[in-house]
Amino acid sequence: MNQIGESGKAGEAETAVGKKSSMYQNRIPVILLLCAFLIYLAASATDRQLISNIIAPIFAFGAAYIIYQGQHKRRDSVYLWLFFFAVTWGIADALWLVSEHILGVEPLASVMVNVFYIIPSFFLVVMVSFFYYSNVGRWNRYQLMLDVLVVTGVILSIVWNFLGNITEVSNLEIGELITLGSYYLADVFVLTGMIILHISTRKKRDNPGNLWILTGVILFVGSNSYFTYLYFNHSYTANSLVDVLYFLPLGAFGLGAIYDKTEKIAGTSEIYTLPENYGRVTQLKYFIAGLLILWYLQVINLHIFIMLAVFLLFHKLFSSYIQLSIKNEYLLFKEQEQNLTLAKQIEKKTRELQRAKDILEEFSYRDKLTGLRNRRSFVDYMDQLTEEKEQPFTLFYMDLDRFKFINDAHGHEIGDRVLKHISQQLLSGAEEAGGLFRIGGDEFALVLPKERSKAALEEVAKDIIRAVQKPIEIPPYVFYVGISIGIARYPEDAFNREDLMKYGDMTMYEAKNHHRKKGYLFFNHELQREMEKKHEVEMMLKKADYDREFHLVFQPQYRIEDQKMIGLEALLRWKQPEAGNISPKDFIPIAEETGQIISIGEWVMERALEEIKIFNEKYDTNLKMAINVSPVQIENMDFLPWIGKKLREKSVHPYWVDIEITEGATIHSSFSMEEIFVGLANLGISASIDDFGTGYSSLSYIKRYHIDRLKIAKELIDNITEDENSRLIIRAITMMARGMGLKTIAEGVEETGQLRILQAIGCDEIQGYLWGKPNPMAVVEAENVVIQKAAEH
Ligand code: C2E
Ligand code: CA
Repeated sequence: MNQIGESGKAGEAETAVGKKSSMYQNRIPVILLLCAFLIYLAASATDRQLISNIIAPIFAFGAAYIIYQGQHKRRDSVYLWLFFFAVTWGIADALWLVSEHILGVEPLASVMVNVFYIIPSFFLVVMVSFFYYSNVGRWNRYQLMLDVLVVTGVILSIVWNFLGNITEVSNLEIGELITLGSYYLADVFVLTGMIILHISTRKKRDNPGNLWILTGVILFVGSNSYFTYLYFNHSYTANSLVDVLYFLPLGAFGLGAIYDKTEKIAGTSEIYTLPENYGRVTQLKYFIAGLLILWYLQVINLHIFIMLAVFLLFHKLFSSYIQLSIKNEYLLFKEQEQNLTLAKQIEKKTRELQRAKDILEEFSYRDKLTGLRNRRSFVDYMDQLTEEKEQPFTLFYMDLDRFKFINDAHGHEIGDRVLKHISQQLLSGAEEAGGLFRIGGDEFALVLPKERSKAALEEVAKDIIRAVQKPIEIPPYVFYVGISIGIARYPEDAFNREDLMKYGDMTMYEAKNHHRKKGYLFFNHELQREMEKKHEVEMMLKKADYDREFHLVFQPQYRIEDQKMIGLEALLRWKQPEAGNISPKDFIPIAEETGQIISIGEWVMERALEEIKIFNEKYDTNLKMAINVSPVQIENMDFLPWIGKKLREKSVHPYWVDIEITEGATIHSSFSMEEIFVGLANLGISASIDDFGTGYSSLSYIKRYHIDRLKIAKELIDNITEDENSRLIIRAITMMARGMGLKTIAEGVEETGQLRILQAIGCDEIQGYLWGKPNPMAVVEAENVVIQKAAEH
């Protein structure tokens, strides 16, 4: 019953229920069988041979039926063979019945009957063989070998001793010998097999079915031996005790079938399980007791008994040793297995970590907005390329033009969309997309491997510019963005990543500031020297103390007609403590690039306003102070309110101020110059276009602006005496200006010849060394007061 008791686990509960119902199903045949057995006993006791002989086969067939029920419980075919055993036994009994009661032949003398009584033994052999077949893989070989050796030895000794005790083997007839031999061979095999099976099963795993089968086999072999004993003593009578004994193995097999514990079909998940014949308890005491009984029954002699007892003791000893080594091997294996699992887990974890790292890395190497690789990735890639030192390559350092304006005017969301769009354009325009990076807000880089001709690189640059210049539609807007490219080559221009990046950047800036139209520029070392100088100036400007290092000089402007001074241009001078005088031509453009012009411009504005106020108040004049204003100032500050505020602060009459803005600024500016000029006019401030006539001489647009004066560039004045063309241009400018109601002032007039021509052309005013150099106010005052006075005389 303990199969039910053992099935405490939920998974086995179902099995237990199944078992219960099968027991219930088997109850009727068992009862019937029991009845048959009782009838047989009664018939035998009262010597009713016919009834006994009829009951015997019925009992065997009934047992066969019950045994067959056990078949579905197991994966091996044990009950099938036991079923055949019972069936053939039943047939043998039936043949006995037929032989004795119908044919009237002494059954024991009938060959057929004898042969049929051997067949069941054959099935037992087959059964045991299958038993082994399905189990041998689960046993430890050494333990099995020892068991087989000892058990076979013991059984053979017993049988041999027993046979020797009951008969003189040499006296046997050949037929008897074969029959007996077959019987015993089969018996020894089956018994040995079943005992080994039993002792090879770990105690807790013992299946009651197997125990019943073992019991059946022992009973069968015992019955056989008893029969043999009776046979050789010629004291066998049919349906006596021995035949009753023969019922028992059938009953035991039947019980086995009923109580067999259904095998778990699911295989164990362990890779290595302990062998089935480990951890069994070899019940030495039972064996010794068994031997004692056999000795008592005189099946064996005393000396055989002692010999076998010693034999069994040795077996026990060796077994303990084998069991120990099985356990050690198992533990070792378990440890290895654990190590392996551990190693696997570590490997798995490492892989996971690596993957996470890869993802993070990929993440940190990508720009989230555009999906392009980022600056970090760019730096790594460049390092890699420069470390390899084998392949030449070219770096395109790129920066968008006017992007800041989009961002400022339309917000970052639109700015981001523009950037995304441009990345796509760049990807399609760039020949090798793999080398494209976003390295800053609106900065991109393209790395092209292999050496290429300058012409080929120029083509790439043009492709990129074309791709970026396509209008970007983000309804309701359409944006036009440009790009400036600085091209630096490895190893031609630089040997390391830092320099190459610096040069690329530098060249890009140069392209942006001075080659907008072309859009790209190749790095060269002259450029580098220039840039370095610029950098130096920038650094000096950064730490400049304006009040100490800066001062203004003033250059008078005169009306040609009456030679009267009508104004002054404020010109900035810088005396750097170490480098000495630095020309505004050298530092103003740098200050414009770096934005330092804003604070410088403020300083100039304040000083210039102060000076003109003092001058005009001192001499009671209305001279104008021409102040140069950089487009960068206008672009980067609220210029009109700012200048209005300055005038108020310094209490300067707007009429005293003239703002000079270069011609170029009016073309390139992203702000509305028209607004600025109108604004200045509204404030009462006059405006002049500086350096007029150089490059962008389009008078037509001047008309749109609310300006007062054109300042004819010195370059044109310089050639005026020799070059007919210059004269023609100046004439045209002057005439048109007059037509538009603008005044003209000639700049850089050094000679009287120039003055005469200008006078003849009809130019209104002049400024130049001829009548006045830029000088500190005191000098200007002294000179001009003298001139004025001279003129007055
Ligand atoms: P600009 O506005 O065209 O100024 C005229 C330049 O021509 C001045 O050079 C002046 O000294 C020079 N000049 C005037 N008459 C003659 C002449 O007869 N012969 C020769 N050879 N030169 C003459 P400067 O002072 O070196 O200024 C250079 C440029 O620097 C200026 O050109 C102006 O664009 C810029 N600059 C000077 N001061 C300032 C300032 O305060 N603010 C800004 N934004 N720019 C300034
Ligand atoms: Ca000027």
